[in-house]
Amino acid sequence: MIKIGTAQSTPGTIQTGHYEAFTHPTGQSEFLPVVIAQGRAEGPCMWLTAGIHGNEHAGPALIYELINQKLVDHLQGTIVALPLLSPAGIRTMKRIPYHDQTDPNRLWPDHSEEVDETGDKPPPSALEKTYARLFDQIAKTADYLIDYHNYSIGSLSFALQDPVFYNADEEAETNHARATKLADQQAQLLAAYGHTIVREYAAETYLKAKLHRSTSAAAMLLAGIPAFTAELGVGPVPDWNIVQAGAAGTRNVLRWAGMLRNSPEPITGIPVVNPGYPVRRMRTPRVPTGCAVLFRVAAGDKVQKGEILAELRDGWGRPIDPPAMHAEHDGFVIGRAHGIFFNPGEAILSMAIRDDSLLVLPYPEKQS
Ligand SMILES: [Zn+2]
Repeated sequence: MIKIGTAQSTPGTIQTGHYEAFTHPTGQSEFLPVVIAQGRAEGPCMWLTAGIHGNEHAGPALIYELINQKLVDHLQGTIVALPLLSPAGIRTMKRIPYHDQTDPNRLWPDHSEEVDETGDKPPPSALEKTYARLFDQIAKTADYLIDYHNYSIGSLSFALQDPVFYNADEEAETNHARATKLADQQAQLLAAYGHTIVREYAAETYLKAKLHRSTSAAAMLLAGIPAFTAELGVGPVPDWNIVQAGAAGTRNVLRWAGMLRNSPEPITGIPVVNPGYPVRRMRTPRVPTGCAVLFRVAAGDKVQKGEILAELRDGWGRPIDPPAMHAEHDGFVIGRAHGIFFNPGEAILSMAIRDDSLLVLPYPEKQS
């Protein structure tokens, strides 16, 4: 039996309920919709979360497409789905909800307990406290977790592979073994999902951007739950091929976890890129001067270092110096930056570039 908010699992059914979040200053209460789908046979518990960024609507759509009675009839175990982690953001179609000026996908708990001796630091927001409470439920009940997001207009569907940090303290050896196992389990989840796999930003950038406090990273790093973030292409106008392929990939993960018995489905209708070597995401290349960009590559294209990616023009359309941008790395294109006009130093593409670095590594000293 699993109970999240007012939703309580019942074998063979889909149950719904409310998870009370917080009360707005105007008296209305904010709640998160909860769906619990439980098979008649016992099995693991998979959490599916979405809608933490309010302008990313493919994740909720995927969850609504995925969970139905036919799935439950074949399910072994339980799916706990929270399709709308940031209801205010969803209502206004904004990445960041108006009542909390922080990226909500950086608000989950982490390993550090910051002490503020000045008293100047504001206390955790209502949303941060909500996620801290919900995190306890995840830690208690989840065996696996997938958090759905969107990337940019026209981008590939892909899944993110995280660096797995461990504390290099007196328990370093045990911690390292645990982190290695977790990284291996995440790799298996990603392989089962079957979409393009891209590693996260380099470790230093990852921590600086607080990506270790994302939904899936917190589940991994703090609760030891194998998890990943799925990026489902464009957010505000979801691509239904990607939504369907994401649902198929999720059913494949359920099969991998032993929660569905039939054989894996092919991932169709979307490009799946595998260059034959590991890649990480990077915003590159960056224009040296303000200019207009005429793209010569598109999402999914494999590129080699030195290849022309775009030609550069001024506002009148005249070639400038340098006349073109070249690939600085081997890899492939995840998606173009929006628009064609760029300021100096702005990146024109999201690329997946070759990356052979270690995925399991100790927290930098100031982090531990
Ligand atoms: Zn997102």
